[in-house]
Amino acid sequence: MDRESFRKVGYSIIDWISDYMDNVAEYPVLSQVEPGTIRDRLPGTPPEGTEDMETILNDFKQLILPGMTHWQHPAFFAYFPANSSEPSLLAEFLTAAMGAQCMIWQTSPAATELEEVVMDWLRQMLGLPEEYSGVIQDTASTSTLCALLCAREKATHYAVNKQGFPLSPPKRLTVYTSEEAHSSVEKGVKIAGFGKENLRLIPAGDDFAMIPAELERAIEEDQRKDNLPCCVVAAVGTTSSTAMDPLRPIGEICMHRGIWLHVDAAMAGTAAILPEMRHILDGVEYADSFVFNPHKWMFTNFDCSAYFCKDTAALTSTFEILPEYLKTDADRRVKNFRDWGIPLGRRFRALKLWFVIRHYGISGLQKKVRDHIRLAKEFESWIMTDSRFELMTPRNINLVCFRYNPSERQFTEDELEQINKQIMDDLNRSGKMFLTHTKLKERFCLRMCIGQTNTTREHVEKAWERIKATALQAGKL
Ligand code: PLP
Repeated sequence: MDRESFRKVGYSIIDWISDYMDNVAEYPVLSQVEPGTIRDRLPGTPPEGTEDMETILNDFKQLILPGMTHWQHPAFFAYFPANSSEPSLLAEFLTAAMGAQCMIWQTSPAATELEEVVMDWLRQMLGLPEEYSGVIQDTASTSTLCALLCAREKATHYAVNKQGFPLSPPKRLTVYTSEEAHSSVEKGVKIAGFGKENLRLIPAGDDFAMIPAELERAIEEDQRKDNLPCCVVAAVGTTSSTAMDPLRPIGEICMHRGIWLHVDAAMAGTAAILPEMRHILDGVEYADSFVFNPHKWMFTNFDCSAYFCKDTAALTSTFEILPEYLKTDADRRVKNFRDWGIPLGRRFRALKLWFVIRHYGISGLQKKVRDHIRLAKEFESWIMTDSRFELMTPRNINLVCFRYNPSERQFTEDELEQINKQIMDDLNRSGKMFLTHTKLKERFCLRMCIGQTNTTREHVEKAWERIKATALQAGKL
């Protein structure tokens, strides 16, 4: 592509993106296509010759866009957000333009050193302990896998890295997490070779948070069987209901037994930038590692997962490789982040974090997060004061779990599931808003998570009107 064409198309794409951001609320939030629709519209073989950019862009609009779910839509209330912002997007342009592969210091010193700096900024913003060093991973799943691998290696004196499983004499390495923990813990346990049978799902209480006494009991039982308790993964903000595992008592249990404590605060961690929410991290100083995702609720587009750990030697001893072709003169004086995670190649993710934090400033970020929490609180109050709806668990931050369950009618659990699923499907099919569901103590409920960058009170209010109208229809069936 010649430079002049690049400039012309580039400007037109910027214009399109600006319009998209202005008009994203006009698109159906959830893509309305049926499975296979997009694939069937695309040629099965690659083009032999060149195609012009105008045609490609046109096809993007005609063929691809209808198959996109619009995560930046202000009525996106599903899952947890993956929000973005203008500064993040602009930094991504620059990152893509430079196309740097930032595996070691030498391959872009600024990428490594900026990452060190912004990760320490994040540490300060969340009030994490000074001993923590940070590194950016792609996702929380990867961060948790890193923690599990480090815990495994530290507990076995790096034996698995050397000799593989099984350990001699045979011992079962065990991992503990709450029954409400995210599925990435189980996935990590499988990948790291612990085996699913050695993952203990600790019961949660009525608040859906891990019960420390149950954790202690499970660990003691394993010790009696001569198993080797290796890692506890505590959740700050579970996916179903943002339940908060109590870090302090869990941390004390881990400290006394020398067990690695990893904290998964994938979405909720962002709330700790607010002084009034710092309590969610009470006891975090016990944690050996900690993850939260700026790509969820900190206006930094996917992917960007902030992983912190205390014992960086455990991290680098677990992941270090040093082939001749990667040796440099600077190695003894710098951080080579290839040894701080799984892949060798690394994107320059620190740049977008730097842009975002500087653009908003701490106070700007706090305002946005505080607004989301305030809106969720208001939505919760609407649910609580409407006798047709039921709050399924008290709100902790920006997620409200609820269901339609009119007090004047007697529905069975099966009927309630059917009706609420119908409400969710109808709402999502409308394209006007998008929310998802979960089950809490086997009871089907709707999740309304407020964390999209541009969501305002008006969007939440409209969503509430739609929920009520849709519920009324579904309730008549
Ligand atoms: N942990 C929790 C609590 C989550 O809610 C999620 C995703 O929503 C994850 C981990 C996984 O995040 P990622 O997609 O970054 O791997």
